Amino acid sequence: MAQPLSHVSAPDLIPDSASRYVVVGGGPVGARVATTLAASAKSARVVLLSFERFDPYNRVKLTPLLAGDVQFGEISSPDIDVAHPNLTLRTGLRATEIDRDQKFVRSADGQVWPYDKLVLATGSRAFVPGITGRDLSGVFTFRSAEDVSALLARSIRARQVVVIGGGLLGLEAARGMQRRQSQVTVIEHESRIMPRQLDPAAGALLAQEIEALGVAVRTGVAVSEIRGTDRVESIHLADGSHIPCDTVIVCTGVRANIDLAKSSRLAFGRGITVDDRMCSSDPYIYAVGECAEHKQTMQGLVGPGFEQADIAVAQILGRDTRYRASAPATKLKVIGAEVFSVGEIEQLEVAAKTQSHIWQDAHGYRRIFVQQGKLVGAIAVGGWAQASRVQSAVQQGASVYPWMVYRFRRHGFLWPEGEEDMSQMADAATVCNCTGVTCGRLRAAIAEGADSPAALGVATGAGNVCGGCQPLLQELVSAGAPPEPVRLFRPILALSAMAALLTLMLGLLPPVPFPQGFDADSLRVWLWQDNIIRQWSGFLLLGTTLAALLIGLRKRLRFMDRLGRYDGWRMVHLAVGALAAFGLIAHTGLRAGSNLNLALFVLFTLTLVMGAVSGLATGGDHLLRARRLSSARKPARRLPTWLHILAVWPLPVLILTHVLASYAY
Ligand SMILES: Cc1cc2nc3c(=O)[nH]c(=O)nc-3n(C[C@H](O)[C@H](O)[C@H](O)COP(=O)(O)OP(=O)(O)OC[C@H]3O[C@@H](n4cnc5c(N)ncnc54)[C@H](O)[C@@H]3O)c2cc1C
Repeated sequence: MAQPLSHVSAPDLIPDSASRYVVVGGGPVGARVATTLAASAKSARVVLLSFERFDPYNRVKLTPLLAGDVQFGEISSPDIDVAHPNLTLRTGLRATEIDRDQKFVRSADGQVWPYDKLVLATGSRAFVPGITGRDLSGVFTFRSAEDVSALLARSIRARQVVVIGGGLLGLEAARGMQRRQSQVTVIEHESRIMPRQLDPAAGALLAQEIEALGVAVRTGVAVSEIRGTDRVESIHLADGSHIPCDTVIVCTGVRANIDLAKSSRLAFGRGITVDDRMCSSDPYIYAVGECAEHKQTMQGLVGPGFEQADIAVAQILGRDTRYRASAPATKLKVIGAEVFSVGEIEQLEVAAKTQSHIWQDAHGYRRIFVQQGKLVGAIAVGGWAQASRVQSAVQQGASVYPWMVYRFRRHGFLWPEGEEDMSQMADAATVCNCTGVTCGRLRAAIAEGADSPAALGVATGAGNVCGGCQPLLQELVSAGAPPEPVRLFRPILALSAMAALLTLMLGLLPPVPFPQGFDADSLRVWLWQDNIIRQWSGFLLLGTTLAALLIGLRKRLRFMDRLGRYDGWRMVHLAVGALAAFGLIAHTGLRAGSNLNLALFVLFTLTLVMGAVSGLATGGDHLLRARRLSSARKPARRLPTWLHILAVWPLPVLILTHVLASYAY
């Protein structure tokens, strides 16, 4: 295990080939990097320096902890293995200096930690603006387990609480304190609450819902002063009014912890500047999570932080994967009202060439943003069963067609109602926002035996952070393992492609002219002037039609089960179909004829075309399944299969009539 140089010289303990990694910051993102690196190789030696005095914990769970839904012992994350033999965890220890030339980190106790690769995951701290009175007793922030333990102690005697800041955290802090029997007022200086995630109408609706829960909300007014002698007594607002209170919680945003990076002359802006590999301006130092600034953007959610952690680890281990920031997505969980927001809503509201569409009824409000036909953002206040699918559509830049906009404006749904259950969700869709686990990965875990949300959590990490996706995990487990591809799907594809080619000939090639006189070539004379041969090609056609019909029945009539497996017979059905296409060409010479013959030709061609398309769709669907790429959406073969069945049934009657007519005249 790696040791500080002040205790023992590193080469005594660390094998020459061992990679020495130091991670600064034991928040969720730093802990993920450290755990993954420790598990990456037997010889890996990882040191995690964490300023907080607790073992790494799940910061997201501070909200339910404040609200009383979980206890202190329940906020640790099952994903973090602090006891891993390759990992040295030092809590309550601040990293104070990086020597980039000699490649070591110095900690506050003077110890020196050498590294081959260093990862900075120093996160953020609560930002407290310079309001007069901010140092009074009774003023709190809401960022760390320390803050929450202070707030929990305070909640016993807090009667009147003012929360400064109506963003996500401010609202959650307000609701948490209100559930502990305090009277709570939220002050937001912008014109609406959650201004980064919601538009004015959604903000107003949410404010109404929050007020109905018993939390007062005041927007469009700034705090000018916190007053009190030695402890908080009231808060004074810019409009001249004041609110008596004994507790103030400041939730006015965060600032990245970049002092260490600054003093070691790494490039920085609002955060530590990183490229697509999460690498800082020093090739041996990476930065991830809330302290990192990628393309002038800072992330404030745990999901993107984990994504960055995985990229940095991959890069350190020699795999060249790149970070592509995905649109931020938020679902509020504690406040009691359902709120959903995906995309950069504040920017989208003023962006050029952006259309937005709104649906509203007495219970909910939904708005979508579309740029050049692509879905780029969405907001909802009130439940929206399609929210997860919308989120995945935004993150994949999915197209929005006019009929979807029409449906949305009329009914509030982008896809037909009922298509929102998990079985309809594409494999690429993200189910767990915090860990970025997709539907496909969860389905694969279910196929490998995970049979409960807890087992899925162990297998994939989904549901272990905020827990908001637990109902979706339960739904997926209930739906069971994804279907396996059928046997012989590749031959199905090949035969269907051949049938499709033949039927294309029927539609696209010009009719073969009738042979004229004796100089015509013998094949054409033989095929179309010899009555016996024409009768034979006709009977071949009738025979193949009846055979294909009977084989098609095999799937639908149970008593035919004893005739062998259906997928084998499906191959025969396809082969017979391809033979029928030959028969039709041989019998007609691609001449459609008129009246009954024309009807017969058109219906036959339609039957063959739809059969070939259905075969291609079936083979394609199973190919996607085999590659774990297919959604569980309604299979694309349904429509062509039904058209194939509808077209085939009149054929025997028409053929019979054609035969009788041929013999009669
Ligand atoms: C109450 C609350 C609720 C939240 N809810 C959600 C949610 O529902 N969904 C969501 O996606 N996100 C949520 N977030 C945000 C999420 O917690 C953060 O995005 C995430 O914690 C960022 O992780 P991080 O590891 O980058 O930074 P941090 O969690 O800030 O961790 C950084 C750590 O580094 C330590 N550190 C800093 N400097 C040094 C140093 N020099 N030496 C040693 N240690 C140092 C800090 O003390 C801290 O422990 C919530 C945040 C809070 C506070």
